[in-house]
Amino acid sequence: MEKLAIVVPCYNEEEVLKIASEALRGVLDDLIRKGKIAEDSFILFVNDGSKDRTWELIEEEHQAHPVQVCGVKLAGNVGHQFALTAGLITAMDLSDVTVSIDADLQDDVAVIEEMIDKFHNGCDIVYGVRKERKTDTFFKRTTAQGFYKVMEMMGVKTVYNHADFRLMSKRAVEQFSKYQETNLFLRGMMPLIGYQTDCVYYDRKERVAGESKYPLKKMLALAFNGISSFSVKPISMILGSGVIIVLLSILAAIYALISYCTGHVVPGWTSLILSIWFLGGIQLMAVGLVGQYIGKIYIEVKHRPRYNIEKVLK
Ligand code: UDP
Ligand code: MG
Repeated sequence: MEKLAIVVPCYNEEEVLKIASEALRGVLDDLIRKGKIAEDSFILFVNDGSKDRTWELIEEEHQAHPVQVCGVKLAGNVGHQFALTAGLITAMDLSDVTVSIDADLQDDVAVIEEMIDKFHNGCDIVYGVRKERKTDTFFKRTTAQGFYKVMEMMGVKTVYNHADFRLMSKRAVEQFSKYQETNLFLRGMMPLIGYQTDCVYYDRKERVAGESKYPLKKMLALAFNGISSFSVKPISMILGSGVIIVLLSILAAIYALISYCTGHVVPGWTSLILSIWFLGGIQLMAVGLVGQYIGKIYIEVKHRPRYNIEKVLK
């Protein structure tokens, strides 16, 4: 039987920690009883430099349930994406399959069983996808959905309405650990790994206690990071607009010449306006062109794995 590690990043989660621990231990017990996971499966809480009693509570839980509850204490606050990565990579050596979930139990723990079933059926990554966003505010819902649309436009593969609630097999985490980039956007990275994947659907609930650790500022930073780490399309857009402006100014030049010949112009206007537009367009094109090279350098320095071999027949 495979050993499961449930990875839970926690930042100032003293209000929810015990509740989360109890709920997740319930899931483990249930899955163990049904013979779907190994008996020494465990929860791995990652304390992301919390300023409250979160770590003390993790220690208490570990003392009370030494097998089922483990903890990792990061030396300072590094943010959700890094905390989750630290947890996944720590769990990679200790388990056969991981499930990552937030501490606030907004994601439905009941679908973990479905994820495990899909894992047994050969999936290496199973994404938890929110069916509806009834419990989110109108603002969060529209901005989040707009974000997925923009990502699609930018050519970045993400799973629509999937946050970081997902199952990953050991080999998927191993492949993920080869992505050494520092600007992390896990939701965009996982689809690059490949393998057989699937989704499970659930209704996202309210936070059981405490408040969101993702204020608007962090949300926008995550969204911008997602786009700028995965797409060099914005640079191509600059180049494209430069080309369009140059072409338009050539058309305008022809029009101005005709007007000049027919004598309907104020002296000086034509040459002034045309040079502003033409030079502006040339400058945009030049910036865009330089940008293309910078975009290439950016992609090169990431040193992402170029492929992932799943099987070799010989
Ligand atoms: N989190 C973290 N480090 C941070 C911010 C958040 O580890 O700097 C964790 C947090 O404890 C929670 C998860 O990331 O388990 C998601 O945060 P939250 O539920 O506040 O985000 P929301 O659901 O409101 O988007
Ligand atoms: Mg939450």
